[in-house]
Amino acid sequence: MAAPIHTSVKPRGGVTAMANRWPLLGQRRALVVYLCGIVVLDLAAIGFFAVSSDLRWPDLLTFAALMACGAVCIEATRRLGMPAGVSRDLLSAWWLPAALLLPPVYALLAPIPLQILLQKRVRETVVYRRVFSSAAIGLAGCAASVLFHAVVGDLSALTAGAGGPILVAVGCAVLFTVVNTALIAVAAHTSAPDSRWREVLWNRESLLLDVVELCLGVLVAITCGLNLALLVLALPPVVLLQRSLLHAQLQAAARTDPKTGLLNAAAWQREADTEIVRARRTGETLALLIVDIDHFKRVNDTYGHLIGDQVLVGVAATIRSQLRDYDVVGRFGGEEFVVLLPRADVTEARRVAERLRSRIGRMAVPADDNMITVTISVGVAVMSMHGDDLIELLAAADLALYRAKELGRDRICLPATVVPPARRPGSEAAPS
Ligand code: GH3
Ligand code: MG
Ligand code: MG
Repeated sequence: MAAPIHTSVKPRGGVTAMANRWPLLGQRRALVVYLCGIVVLDLAAIGFFAVSSDLRWPDLLTFAALMACGAVCIEATRRLGMPAGVSRDLLSAWWLPAALLLPPVYALLAPIPLQILLQKRVRETVVYRRVFSSAAIGLAGCAASVLFHAVVGDLSALTAGAGGPILVAVGCAVLFTVVNTALIAVAAHTSAPDSRWREVLWNRESLLLDVVELCLGVLVAITCGLNLALLVLALPPVVLLQRSLLHAQLQAAARTDPKTGLLNAAAWQREADTEIVRARRTGETLALLIVDIDHFKRVNDTYGHLIGDQVLVGVAATIRSQLRDYDVVGRFGGEEFVVLLPRADVTEARRVAERLRSRIGRMAVPADDNMITVTISVGVAVMSMHGDDLIELLAAADLALYRAKELGRDRICLPATVVPPARRPGSEAAPS
């Protein structure tokens, strides 16, 4: 299952102490309302289904066995650590069977002990994130459970191997994934409204993982329904899959800047080098931008580093949202970003740089009762015109950036050409 990512904010002034103790209070109001709403809905569902379900010992035994398998999985992968940000695990293999085989209240309760274990044994994170994850997974499991029990009255039909109930189980597993993904995507988008829905909802890798989780969950449910003891046979392959998944995520994390989710400087440099070699071979054009936030130190000095971090995250998301999928974006360090634009000539590079300048200038990050706005300066260099390899292009773009700063900031510069800022509000036209 996916775990959400939110950045904490530490406002200054009267609410600082409260926000330190309750990091949730430092988030956007819309996010706080949404997260609280989902948790309240989850608690209401737990209350409703607890009252309307009969307590049966075989159900309790199945629930305990599934939770024990989840706990073994967590313990067995604990030493690998867990990458920061949105991470994936295969714990659905245990709470999906709870949803299909047991009354809905168990699906609502299942994430709670495992999230507590993750918090205590794997990675301590802000508590509201764990609580929200539990609620989102619980509600998704509850929806799948209610649907499955409504359509398949007799659970033994699932283990008898009949096609119909198995298809319904697969459909319910899809519902589980869709509800969970949607609940988390809304939180992620509310937390960073500039992010693209497509990015928070879906990518090819996460879809593949969803399919694996779905298959595992249905297989474990059938196995567990046949005989609880068969869980002992299901456990080792799930643990192995979980370990290899974490390994792949840790490798990806090593390429990523944890604060912004962009490539880190080393990974960007490797990818940029590859693109430059390709452009030289094919004779295509290519451009490089260095983006630097203006007077960023003032933001930190006025609002604190954590708000400064929020601005960095916002700028990174805005840059990413304005570029094509194959443009290579990285955080070069501090408040500097680098963008490689394959196939861009000088006109296109200026147009893109101007669009970034204009969009970031209009971006607002809430802090206390204020909205923070920042401007950027951009240095542009184009292959063949200003350099032939990465080092030369970086040096040329850096020089251009230096000139943009000297000339008053909030503008884009080429090594030899100064482009005056387009001051008209909303204007994104390419400067001449
Ligand atoms: P200029 O317009 O000349 O670029 O001015 P500036 O204030 O943006 O540049 P300067 O190099 O003086 O300061 C950069 C600041 O960026 C100082 C540093 O504290 C801050 N910074 C660097 N990395 C981070 C970070 O990860 N988070 C936060 N909040 N601040 C950072
Ligand atoms: Mg700066
Ligand atoms: Mg700088």
